[in-house]
Amino acid sequence: MAVMNSLFTDRLRGGTVLGAEGYVFELERRGYIKAGPFVPEVVLDFPDAVRELHREFLRAGADVMVALTYYAHREKLRDVGREDDLEAMNRQAVRIAREVARESPDDGGARALVAGNVCNTWAYDPDDPGTRETVRAMYAEQLGWAVDEGVDFVISETNDYLGEALIALEVIQSLRLPAMVTLAPTQPGHTRDGYEYADACRILAAEGAQVVGLNCDRGPKTMLPLIARIRDLVDCAVAVQPVPYRTDAIAPTMQALRSAAGERAFPIALDSFACTRFDMAKFAVQASELGVDYIGICCGAGPHHVRAMAEALGRVVPASKYSPSMELHPMLKADVSAKDAAFLPSWIA
Ligand SMILES: [Zn+2]
Repeated sequence: MAVMNSLFTDRLRGGTVLGAEGYVFELERRGYIKAGPFVPEVVLDFPDAVRELHREFLRAGADVMVALTYYAHREKLRDVGREDDLEAMNRQAVRIAREVARESPDDGGARALVAGNVCNTWAYDPDDPGTRETVRAMYAEQLGWAVDEGVDFVISETNDYLGEALIALEVIQSLRLPAMVTLAPTQPGHTRDGYEYADACRILAAEGAQVVGLNCDRGPKTMLPLIARIRDLVDCAVAVQPVPYRTDAIAPTMQALRSAAGERAFPIALDSFACTRFDMAKFAVQASELGVDYIGICCGAGPHHVRAMAEALGRVVPASKYSPSMELHPMLKADVSAKDAAFLPSWIA
């Protein structure tokens, strides 16, 4: 497939692209999405809430406004009895993302890009060829509406199967849009259809994806070694969007994290495992040093993470106006140990 020139590929050539996602988790936390089905009904029910979160990520430095069409597919809408809202939800999500992208700061910088978004469908079964057409039709209808409303490129993400990711890639290519295709690294080393992650990315790149990589499920610490291998193996641009949770060798994914009492923390009790903004700033630098082109963040993200990542990459963003100035904090500006000595004993008595 011929190299496609586009706003997105131009932007990638110009330097790191900073992504920000995790809309579903964050809007659930704010009370606008039901945990469990995680369908983005908020797009139709409370569009201002979606607009506001886009705006917060934009001010924090995100270069891309990702339309909130994650799980806005036929299968999921049927689960919550809103199949009739499918088209309206998809169209409105792209419209909102576009609207906020146009609010990009007027400082000579480029406007934020708008990404269409599709994800794993839960309808794909590698052993049942009939499901391929079901999945293709789901992607085709969602992305048809996205193209109609206007997107710069498409992100196909949280793919468990290379086979399903390849269907998404074909549909995106048929619409003549650049594709960023990322896998969900839920398993130790392989997709659910048995391809080593790096090998699956190599195949996606060979099939013409402009960007390949990983998103979701793993925190920075357990995502980085996998992405390093992918970076080594492919020539095209690479994307990484971890979850901001402290996954480790014992619990390499957020689904594996357990409380001290042994209870599963995923998906709505992960708070105590959250990465700080400093963790994510460090991650952004590490990913940049590896040569990753698209550095972002997934479920659990807040604007404070994104701003810290942007600033760690050397940027000043609109929200930098309110970045911390601890030298102005009454307790922390000077003589901190003397103040600790004066105050802390009574706090912890
Ligand atoms: Zn995620």
